[in-house]
Amino acid sequence: MEPRMNRRNLLRATAAGTAAAVVAQQTSVSAGVFEPVKIQEPFHGAVLNRRNGRQVDAGLMIQVRGRAPLRDRVTVNGSPARRAGTSFTAEVLLSQKETDIIAASHGSFGLHEHRVRVVWDRHSEPRYRFSIDDNSFFLRDIAQKNYKSLFDCFYLKGLRELHSKYGTRFVLNIYYTTEDGFELPQFPDRYKSEWQDNCDWLKLAFHAYANEPARPYQYASASQLIADLKKVAEQILRFAGEQSYSPPTVIHWGMVQPQALKPLYENGVRVLSGYFRRLGGDWDVNYLLDDARSEYLSRHDALMDFDSGIVFSRVDIVCNSTEVERIVPTLEPLTKDPNQAEIMDIFTHEQYFWPFYSNYLPDHFQRLDVAIRWVTENGYKPVLFHEGFLAQHRV
Ligand SMILES: [Zn+2]
Repeated sequence: MEPRMNRRNLLRATAAGTAAAVVAQQTSVSAGVFEPVKIQEPFHGAVLNRRNGRQVDAGLMIQVRGRAPLRDRVTVNGSPARRAGTSFTAEVLLSQKETDIIAASHGSFGLHEHRVRVVWDRHSEPRYRFSIDDNSFFLRDIAQKNYKSLFDCFYLKGLRELHSKYGTRFVLNIYYTTEDGFELPQFPDRYKSEWQDNCDWLKLAFHAYANEPARPYQYASASQLIADLKKVAEQILRFAGEQSYSPPTVIHWGMVQPQALKPLYENGVRVLSGYFRRLGGDWDVNYLLDDARSEYLSRHDALMDFDSGIVFSRVDIVCNSTEVERIVPTLEPLTKDPNQAEIMDIFTHEQYFWPFYSNYLPDHFQRLDVAIRWVTENGYKPVLFHEGFLAQHRV
């Protein structure tokens, strides 16, 4: 379904960027092959919370684990590490938002260092966010029907019911055009006060210029992406107001050029969600992150990209592709894994709500209800990622 381009592999190779990440397992250190010191855990960019260490008065105490040449003397942040064969372990205290961890080995080949940086998610609590992609039909519907209220549109009415029941907060990622003549400038500003009345739980964000073509920003320039973002943002501000605006949370197809990340950050993006899954051997819907980080994200809630300042979040469930009876079995195992239990990134697509859509799902709202009821009953609080550091929920 996607072209296998040499260019893509080249991009992946050059996208690797930061120094830390190499997945290759070092299983043995044999004579003649020099393998320098390497921190295996934590991972460079890891976002760590109370589930990943021991909470002490001064902060979070975490385990550092790695390998170094057998006879080398190893220190971690200046203190001697425990050795067993080629492995080493140490404890490091996280007392600030970001901490550098430096493993140094001194031996016959001299001094070698491996350095990673991790983020302490200090105020972390179980939380969930809900974002819906590919939105455009509801805006066309409201503009065409000229409803008295936004919530006369069944789609927004359904979302409002979920909000009233569970307190859920939604970000709707929208297109500029439905490509059949409707464009955002045609959407009236007469609902502005209604948007404002609901802005604490209902946000609009840029997703793409249009549904087609697929993967519009995978090979587009950063300036093209930002120009489209601004075009949509300008319209949201005009018809809904600043308080209803959210920076993008998912870019259409979850693929952008590495050079686009910094400009996205400069335009308010703090978190981007993706699937970080394999498609025919290649990591996909991963914002073209390198393989090591994509693999890490496939089994962790979040990862910081220090170069851009953006945190990547793994989508935990796509409601439109998960049948009602599969929803709880999809979410429940995540709560048993300390690396995935804290943040539930819940996600779906607008088109499946509409009866005229070829893959219409009559039980789509029921799917949302089951997912949201489950996270609510399991103590997860509704958040909007763009509000802060993954929107830590503070009581
Ligand atoms: Zn999309």
